[in-house]
Amino acid sequence: MRVKAKLYPKEAARLLQEKPSVRASVTGATLHFERNRLRAYGEIDAEAWRERARRIKDHVLTHLDHYLELAEKRLRENGVQVHWAEGPEEAHRLLREVVARHGVKRAVKAKSMLTEELGVNPLLESLGVEVYETDLGEYLIQLLGEPPSHIVGPAIHLSLPEIQRLFHDRFGTPLDAAPEALAQVARGVLREAFLTAELGISGANFLVAETGTLAVMENEGNIRLSTSLPRVHVAFVGIEKLLPRFQDLALFLPLTARAATGQRLATFVSLIQGSAQPGEEGPEEVHVVLVDHGRTALLADPEAWEVLRCVRCGACLNACPVYRQTGGHPYGYVYSGPIGAVLDPGLLGLEEAHPLPHASTLCGACQEACPVKIPIPKLLLAWRHRAVEQGLAPTWEKGAMRAFAQVMGSPALYRLFSKALRGLPLPQALQDHLPLLRAWTEGRGPLKPSPRPFHELWREIKEETHGG
Ligand code: SF4
Repeated sequence: MRVKAKLYPKEAARLLQEKPSVRASVTGATLHFERNRLRAYGEIDAEAWRERARRIKDHVLTHLDHYLELAEKRLRENGVQVHWAEGPEEAHRLLREVVARHGVKRAVKAKSMLTEELGVNPLLESLGVEVYETDLGEYLIQLLGEPPSHIVGPAIHLSLPEIQRLFHDRFGTPLDAAPEALAQVARGVLREAFLTAELGISGANFLVAETGTLAVMENEGNIRLSTSLPRVHVAFVGIEKLLPRFQDLALFLPLTARAATGQRLATFVSLIQGSAQPGEEGPEEVHVVLVDHGRTALLADPEAWEVLRCVRCGACLNACPVYRQTGGHPYGYVYSGPIGAVLDPGLLGLEEAHPLPHASTLCGACQEACPVKIPIPKLLLAWRHRAVEQGLAPTWEKGAMRAFAQVMGSPALYRLFSKALRGLPLPQALQDHLPLLRAWTEGRGPLKPSPRPFHELWREIKEETHGG
């Protein structure tokens, strides 16, 4: 996909202006997910589960070399062909080989953010392969030619009338067709694709090092069909997706489902252990591509590495009041919302993604939702700090912050300014006369300054307390 993370502020403003329906669709869907997550966390000792998950992830990340070698060994013992890809180039080379060797004309794909990173669809299409996204939401956005708007619900920005219009134009269904009827049409198209595709492509939620098992979670059954019906299955797995032991799945599968959709477990969980054995049904050839694409560099970054604990559940997106306004498209890269704001600068470089860490109120809701306790606000501040150090902050902001620091550093200046500001009619005057502050004041009710500043009240309380 074309990276446009640098344009985030403009793109977000444009979307809010031109497509206000997106805000309603995304808010509705994310609040629904969020309510379900809160209920599902409430059924368990969520703090203990999350802490355990954090520890396991930290352990695997701090011993990644060991677990990667173990996973490779076990995968090979299971008859899986293992490949290493530093980035898209190696991944594309492998796909070219598979397509040529098996005469692939059609491929079915399970939803995978990593394949978005690697540009798998454009590569296959350039080779003349017909690619079908088989997750219903992914299929919709593929028909529209759009990137995903959410990690778990790629089409949550679309309203029902928009989907009805899309199917009407594509398949001639009535404009008021019920969602079930639309799903039936998609199912017909995709069933045909599953039965005729030579190649199935997936990601993986987890790769167990101890057994070389790929674990994939889903609710539609499309991943199971994509990975079992075609002759060849290629799975792209980020190197951070490892779990040490098979028993760790007993924690991560239900915890991730609870965080993502509020389910106790995903409807389908597939544990893939290699190609079909004699007498079994399944792919003749299974490839696992272990992908770095910037992850090793992130792991070596003492301020940013914790982001690699991410299990891509999307809970932080659902909890984020900023993401909820626009959905994922304005973020301009594969990952959006709070996880995008801390992962994209690491994967793309700060130069490309420096506005994203500012797409947050620092309210901390993302951190509370995260099943692996990634300290997202801390990471956001670290990236913001770096952006300033690297001269990527706007000049006006630098000037304003310097002035603010001076005022806050001098009690006399602070008193003078707070007295002066209390006399100003806020925020209307600021809105009208200082356009730079509009982004802060627009949409807020009028401020009612306290008649006396806090430090005066505080001194009084202290005197009264001591006097008493
Ligand atoms: S950062 Fe946490 S909440 Fe957000 S997608 Fe990753 S694991 Fe889920």
